[in-house]
Amino acid sequence: MDLQLKGKRALVTGASSGLGLACAKALIAEGATVTLVARGAARLEKARASLGPQAHALAADLSTPADIDRMVREAEALMGGIDILVANAGGPPPGSFESTAVEAYPAALQLSLISTVAMCKATVPAMRERGWGRVVAITSIAVREPIAQLILSNTARAGLTGFLKTLATEVAADGVTVNSVQPGLHATDRLREVFGDTDKLASGLPVRKLGDPEDFGRIVAFLCSPTACFITGSAIPVDGGSSRGLQ
Ligand code: NAD
Repeated sequence: MDLQLKGKRALVTGASSGLGLACAKALIAEGATVTLVARGAARLEKARASLGPQAHALAADLSTPADIDRMVREAEALMGGIDILVANAGGPPPGSFESTAVEAYPAALQLSLISTVAMCKATVPAMRERGWGRVVAITSIAVREPIAQLILSNTARAGLTGFLKTLATEVAADGVTVNSVQPGLHATDRLREVFGDTDKLASGLPVRKLGDPEDFGRIVAFLCSPTACFITGSAIPVDGGSSRGLQ
């Protein structure tokens, strides 16, 4: 299937590794031009080089509000505009209600909620003016079933999902769709670092294997395509069947 993404211009954040990099790769494979964003310039440049001439790279830190407007302006200058925003970053640190100080919440909310609000503020108005745009945020399956010891992530991503749903309704008539994709366990370097023995994790999933980031990237690319115009305001689990609820 041709996803008709040739010529579209995408900003993908958290894109030097894992799920973000896989999204950038899938968009480029479909003909889009992509600006990849992450903090560390060296790893970012390696990722850019692996993706070829349709990829640009910009170092920025989503935990720093001032960096976000600069990043969007520079990405627009590099590509001539932004048609697609894939909003992603690393998750906040682990912890329970008891172990997590109130003072830890603002930083987590900045990284996993407010940074996406700011990126939408900076990109969606031009998408509406052009009558076409796509926003896809990578959240977590924790939005459906909060995960123990991840209270900051559980809190921020539920809030982000509420924001995205509200935005989706407001901009739907202008050709802009807004969705989130909720990863379950995917075989990224980060997951291997955190859990070590991923075979044990995989055996606990209904599909008995971890998600492949490249499959995840292609699902996001589909949501960014013109064909997906009737999917908006959705929060889509990509979790190998691990969430057991009906919704
Ligand atoms: P990862 O650590 O492999 O990639 C995160 C990317 O974000 C990297 O490119 C990193 O440089 C970038 N990044 C981190 N902090 C940043 C910041 N402040 N500013 C700019 N860039 C920043 O992680 P991943 O496994 O690909 O996960 C991506 C997201 O999906 C995370 O929020 C994670 O919590 C969530 N998630 C992942 C899984 C999984 O199984 N991999 C499951 C549930 C949720």
